[in-house]
Amino acid sequence: MVVTGPAELLATWETGLERRAAGRALLLHRAARPEATAEQLDAEPLGARVADLLVLRRALFGERMQVLLECAACGEVVEFDLDARGLGEHPRPTGEVLRVAEGGVAVEFRLPTAADLDAVAAAPVEQRGWRLLEHCTLAAERDGEPVEPARIPEQARRQMAELAEQADPAADLAVTVHCPHCGGSTPTVLDIADFLWAELDSWSRDVLLDVHLLASAYGWSEPWILALSPLRRRYYLELCADG
Ligand SMILES: [Zn+2]
Repeated sequence: MVVTGPAELLATWETGLERRAAGRALLLHRAARPEATAEQLDAEPLGARVADLLVLRRALFGERMQVLLECAACGEVVEFDLDARGLGEHPRPTGEVLRVAEGGVAVEFRLPTAADLDAVAAAPVEQRGWRLLEHCTLAAERDGEPVEPARIPEQARRQMAELAEQADPAADLAVTVHCPHCGGSTPTVLDIADFLWAELDSWSRDVLLDVHLLASAYGWSEPWILALSPLRRRYYLELCADG
């Protein structure tokens, strides 16, 4: 069961304010899977985290996701809708060992996890894709002799990247946005953790404002106000505004 209580969500937000993007993504993953241990969450392939965050997103804010993006062709800001259900349709990736044999080199590797992503975060962006797979290489050999992951030939690397993408297609939520102003299309990758964090941030600030207004008007405490259903909270706020 995902965390949806306002008090717990506010606590998640408060903790996340001091963290960077990776720490926030982990906090959100914990809110999505409160029964899992930190080790379990760290070991999940990236697409599994995306699927968990989409479940949390649907529970908190519904199916429809409104995304703003700058068109690569004309620079206009384009608003488009995504369906959180449709994005989460990929089968959940498993931790199985993947194998590639190419150009005399046999490689065994596993799907990248969020912990792997953290480990290569310092690498230049254009090298990060390969660094990630290098980090996830379990064994590589040529004619029975071990091969350093850094010396895996280009062709085998490409096959590893393709296989990883097939095994975990949800690791990157790639969408192409069509611009209504110029007709151009912009490929983009939606970072669901970033997106959900921005929504949680805006929701939390709204809730704190509601608490402030109701506490000022009625003298109620924060826990009391947070225990009200959103509908009742809205109703009392309207009464305050009318008064
Ligand atoms: Zn455009």
